Amino acid sequence: MSSVPPYSGDEPTCIKCGNAGARTEYLAYGETVPGLTGNVTISFAPNERLQRECQRCGFQWDEAIVEPVHQGGNAEDCQACKGTNPDYPFICPGPETP
Ligand SMILES: [Zn+2]
Ligand SMILES: [Zn+2]
Repeated sequence: MSSVPPYSGDEPTCIKCGNAGARTEYLAYGETVPGLTGNVTISFAPNERLQRECQRCGFQWDEAIVEPVHQGGNAEDCQACKGTNPDYPFICPGPETP
């Protein structure tokens, strides 16, 4: 797996100019722009990620997508259950209620 940092929220601090705030764009395939590691990877394999761009200086970096979390209740309403085809009656396994 790649070493993309986790999503840093709505107002990450740009490592280049110190500005708080970056736009986010979802990218599913292709090229990885120069990031925190300074590496450039060009691939046409699925490479899901969030591309962040500093609102002040335009510096770009990649962050990992946010993994869906089980909501509990009806599995059909849960993004984390989507595609797992849970057995009838489609009850999401989590979260446990205290
Ligand atoms: Zn910046
Ligand atoms: Zn679930």
